Amino acid sequence: MAKNIVWHSAAITRERREKQNGHQSFILWFTGLSGAGKSTLAHRVEEILHERGCRTYVFDGDNVRHGLCSDLGFSAEDRQENIRRIGEMSKLFIEAGVIALTAFISPFRRDRRTVRSLVHKGDFIEVYCDTAIEICEERDVKGLYQRARAGEIIEFTGVSSPYEIPENAEIVVDTGTQEVDVCAHQVIDYLVEHEKIAAPSASPDSSSSVASLHGG
Ligand code: ADP
Repeated sequence: MAKNIVWHSAAITRERREKQNGHQSFILWFTGLSGAGKSTLAHRVEEILHERGCRTYVFDGDNVRHGLCSDLGFSAEDRQENIRRIGEMSKLFIEAGVIALTAFISPFRRDRRTVRSLVHKGDFIEVYCDTAIEICEERDVKGLYQRARAGEIIEFTGVSSPYEIPENAEIVVDTGTQEVDVCAHQVIDYLVEHEKIAAPSASPDSSSSVASLHGG
């Protein structure tokens, strides 16, 4: 890290932004095999949150790899660096008071743990999209499994590279057999139960709901 760098402490803090927004900021980290439903679910959850007045942003493979990580490939080091950058970026979004939703295979426990360790306890919510590989392969949304089986893609997660199932994910969704909306509401229910967002009946900008979100 470069020397002579001093973190500027802003008067507008995360807490003030959260209070203004009426919800906490955090990362919803969707992980699972290709085709498991991470992106579909992340966008559905975002829609619901947006309708409830929350500030959100979805990071997924395409929007990140076109810019922020356009210099990175799919080697082990590059995958690790890709996840690290997404983690750091998500952390800044938390500071900005935004709910960051990320949809990356992120197959390695170590990399997911790295992101978890970047932020405060409770700010990293791991959502395991639990879809059996047979179902992912049947969906084959982008035709990638077929190409991987044909040997055209090397180190393809689930085929020729491992996927390490989360051991302590905050939320496990059955994206293999349940409807998208059922899974999305499971995530939303978790957020309400853990006081990350207000329950739908409460006004999103009422000061009492914000106070309760911050533990009074
Ligand atoms: P990923 O981002 O994990 O690679 P995608 O979201 O691109 O997966 O694709 C998943 C596919 O599975 C989509 O065609 C989606 O409509 C379908 N699908 C079926 N059930 C679900 C569910 N419960 N959650 C998310 N996607 C689902």
